[in-house]
Amino acid sequence: METRRIHHFTAANPGYMTLDGTNQYLLGENEITVIDVGLSSKENIDGILKQVGTVGGKKIEKILLTHIHRDHSGGALALKKQTGAKLGISRLRAGYVGSEDFTYDDGDEIPYDGGRLRVIHTPGHESGHCCFYEPDQRILFTGDHILGRGTTVIPPPDGDMALYLRSLEKLLALKIRLLLPGHGPAIDAPYDKINEYIEHRLMREREVMECLRDGLDTIPTIAARIYAEVPAPLQTVGRLSIEAHLLKLIQEKRVAKDGERYRRSEAV
Ligand SMILES: [Zn+2]
Repeated sequence: METRRIHHFTAANPGYMTLDGTNQYLLGENEITVIDVGLSSKENIDGILKQVGTVGGKKIEKILLTHIHRDHSGGALALKKQTGAKLGISRLRAGYVGSEDFTYDDGDEIPYDGGRLRVIHTPGHESGHCCFYEPDQRILFTGDHILGRGTTVIPPPDGDMALYLRSLEKLLALKIRLLLPGHGPAIDAPYDKINEYIEHRLMREREVMECLRDGLDTIPTIAARIYAEVPAPLQTVGRLSIEAHLLKLIQEKRVAKDGERYRRSEAV
């Protein structure tokens, strides 16, 4: 799908969680704004700079971070050091990477050379996570809130399933034609994807409640049933997701916890 003044360079950090690697987006005509810098390696920084040249950019003006996880922020200081670009970060995460030049909050508008971005605070995957909305082109940069393939991990205690679902629903109010994720390919059916993501989590929640009904009452036993088919490295992630679901259900008083055991507390 066509975009104007938006390009990307994918970091060489492929993996189960990062898919093909972190997508680092370049926006603008002459003065480039970069969203997320995954690696501080010379190869990655040189790759971004080369891409700036290829798309006709003159210099890097700004660096924005969707969130503080290493695979999105790990190269930010190296790129800033090499280019003198101004580094921005969510106000909730001020000081985390260090050396930031400005912070942003939900609803803030950040101009770039050729347009503007609106900050959409989307806690869930990470409490300070922000998506960036480009209203003129109706594009949403989703970071790890929505991925090009598969689903994202919600790791407690900073990750929060209840907030995550609310942050997905929040996106439905935006006019979007394209999602550009932090990992994996662009998504040109945004609302289908957002609704699929919401439905997927609600399905998992129902499965967790069924496990509890069937007497599986610890995180490992629930995860072993629900994630029986997934590869071993993702089993750990699966246990985190189950914990995140249980914490949401406890908040909603539908589940109670006794030691390491969980039970349904609503009328069955
Ligand atoms: Zn990531």
